[in-house]
Amino acid sequence: MKSDLEHKFFEHYNQHPEKIYFSPGRVNLIGEHIDYNGGLVMPCAVTMGTWLLVAPNRNGELRFKSGNFEEEYTVALQSGYAKTGGEWYNYPLGVFNEILKEKRINYGLDLMYFGNIPIGSGLSSSASIEVVTAYALNDLFNFDYDKLELVLLSQKVENEFMGVNCGIMDQFAVAFGERNKAIVLNCDSLDYKLVNCNLGDYLLAIINTNKPRKLAESKYNERVEECKRALEDLNKEIKVNHLCELNAEKFALHSHLIENETILKRAIHVIKENDRVHLAAKALSENNLAEFGRLMFASHQSLKDFYEVTGIELDTVVDFCSQYPGVVGARMTGAGFGGCAIALVQKGTEEDFAIKLNDFYISKIGYSPTVYLSEIGHGASAI
Ligand code: ADP
Ligand code: MG
Repeated sequence: MKSDLEHKFFEHYNQHPEKIYFSPGRVNLIGEHIDYNGGLVMPCAVTMGTWLLVAPNRNGELRFKSGNFEEEYTVALQSGYAKTGGEWYNYPLGVFNEILKEKRINYGLDLMYFGNIPIGSGLSSSASIEVVTAYALNDLFNFDYDKLELVLLSQKVENEFMGVNCGIMDQFAVAFGERNKAIVLNCDSLDYKLVNCNLGDYLLAIINTNKPRKLAESKYNERVEECKRALEDLNKEIKVNHLCELNAEKFALHSHLIENETILKRAIHVIKENDRVHLAAKALSENNLAEFGRLMFASHQSLKDFYEVTGIELDTVVDFCSQYPGVVGARMTGAGFGGCAIALVQKGTEEDFAIKLNDFYISKIGYSPTVYLSEIGHGASAI
């Protein structure tokens, strides 16, 4: 892989790359729809990712090329940049722009990206390309950003330069991920810890339902509002800043304050899902994948029945997984209404799993899902 990429770089730029960097994609293992409720998420890096090969040039230009897209872009080194339409190179250009607000870049660069993350499927290829660029510039020019600063800078690029509203989880997981570890992260306080996540005999299967996530944005906003209403109701009697300040036991003492049945269901999901993340971290620390898998299924059920963000496609995948003997746990991941599910699949059964899942899914939905196999990979690095 590496020599192949180096060869392509040479063919295009007529010089060898000086450095190579890598940054992964990510999935959220458990803890869904609670990042905006002060709760915990548990993402990990996947083994798929984005490679960046780079070498200085003498023309004082930034030259952007990707193995995944046709368009190329060359621009003179300047003190800052504006977005130039919707093309892919705006992601790295945004990173240059953000860094140039504080630092000097005094020579041009030839940059070439290659990614094997399925793009636009919710595995955060966008965070991956941002973070690999920020990481590379920090290293090449000996800037003094720490990893969290690179994460915040990349998130700012996605929010402000690209105009995409996303929280901190994606960039955080992509930068802080470690092999065979899950990250337990509070997206509000940014407190985090890494927990051992040894999948042993299992692989992480990522199953793209191939259903466009059309509804996701409007429904996401609706759920955010519903959680705010639940909080307002609770605050008639107690003082809480976030739903996740309550565990299920404490919540039961005050849940009568929420009269609307739908709002109550949303709050129940949030509070129990947050409890599940604590239990999931404990299960991992005890190497208890069976318990971890049970929590994954419970998470999906709650997202289906209480949060109502799954849909027939994701439910079909998880239904199949719950019946397949080689799967220890499965759930939707991401905002829902399409996108991806994840499953822990016993090694050796993955081919049979993919074939049977495909048949089952086609019989119910009419088209195929796509299955990707991964392990828990490491975060951004020089290679
Ligand atoms: P996701 O983050 O879920 O994969 P997004 O729509 O947020 O989907 O980001 C995908 C965009 O990120 C791509 O359309 C492209 O602009 C950019 N991108 C990601 N990976 C690469 C790559 N390897 N080369 C060039 N651009 C990339
Ligand atoms: Mg993205």
